[in-house]
Amino acid sequence: MWQAEVRVDLDAIRANVTRLRSGTSAELMAVVKGDGYGHGMVPSARAALDAGADWLGVCTLDEALTLRRAGITVPVLAWLLDPGLPLHEGVAAGVDLAAASLSQLDEMVAAGRAADRPARLHLKIDTGLSRGGATVADWPTLLEAAAKAQADGLVEVVGVWSHFVYADSPGHPTTDRQLAVFHEGLAMVDRAGLRPRYRHLANSAATLTRPDTHFDLVRPGIAVYGLSPIAGQQFGLRRAMTARARVMLTKRVPAGTGVSYGHTYTTEGEANLAVVPLGYADGVPRHASNVGPVQLGGKRRTISGRVCMDQFVLDCGADEVAAGDVATLFGSGDDGMPTADDWAEAVGTINYEIVTRFGGVRVPRIYDGERP
Ligand SMILES: *Cc1c(COP(=O)(O)O)cnc(C)c1O
Repeated sequence: MWQAEVRVDLDAIRANVTRLRSGTSAELMAVVKGDGYGHGMVPSARAALDAGADWLGVCTLDEALTLRRAGITVPVLAWLLDPGLPLHEGVAAGVDLAAASLSQLDEMVAAGRAADRPARLHLKIDTGLSRGGATVADWPTLLEAAAKAQADGLVEVVGVWSHFVYADSPGHPTTDRQLAVFHEGLAMVDRAGLRPRYRHLANSAATLTRPDTHFDLVRPGIAVYGLSPIAGQQFGLRRAMTARARVMLTKRVPAGTGVSYGHTYTTEGEANLAVVPLGYADGVPRHASNVGPVQLGGKRRTISGRVCMDQFVLDCGADEVAAGDVATLFGSGDDGMPTADDWAEAVGTINYEIVTRFGGVRVPRIYDGERP
């Protein structure tokens, strides 16, 4: 028995990785940060590897070590590393680390010493996002220090990389500018005497639309889970996550009945109200109040009134909807079912945030498709 569940179709993840692989000759890093964008990190990673992903990408050291503890041995890159972390544990576990500053490089040299093997590094250049990465001005100094550490056998520079600002807007001039800066950065890498095996830049959007940015490795995240980074274009991807719940209670109320906190919704006619046991504690955005789409009884409906912590209400009008019926918030999009894209549009966010929110502990995550 279940009252609410998030279903994840591992075969869809496999199909998406196959689709992404077919569009590139580069190696493929499936990005599984954020608990696999809410889909479950380890099962998502295994499905992606099953379909031929070569690498896994995560943010934190802890995510990388969790993959290793699960027995996953493929190359893993971790790129969000605060000062003072036990990086030697990552080095000992064969986790590749992203470095963007001299102090990070120093920590990675020390981690290599502690682990008794050189840290494998991916040097990051900031080509315009102004988030991670060394500025172009600081890049030569970082390269020089990294080249020296490599010559001393203290680190191994495996990769050079950067991240896009605007790849989700095809044709945006910022993408071309960033690509040009990346090429300049690579020329400096060459002049510093470094010959990293992997140059990488492309997220999902660039993997799908800009083959000239693929270099040696692409890093798709959202597309692995079947969601498009570019609104309105699906690229043959299959959405992997479905969020649904069984109606807890229905009741008939007269016209003019205020519904949920603050009575921001009032029934127009006599109505059959359905109470659905999912709320903002489970990932339903409170901004979905009066706008979130839900499929119930073969029809697409809209949340009536405020989303509460644990539940929301649907005005089903005269329709015969009963307790136990399945209300689908989003899923594949087949048969008129709403999608994470519809939810993103309704609440003014991106599909990434919708699925990632549904990674909580209260709602069980059920896997469909073959378990690798
Ligand atoms: C999250 C992330 C990705 C994947 O981005 P998508 O848009 O989900 O494909 C790639 N690279 C870096 C550095 C990231 O942080």
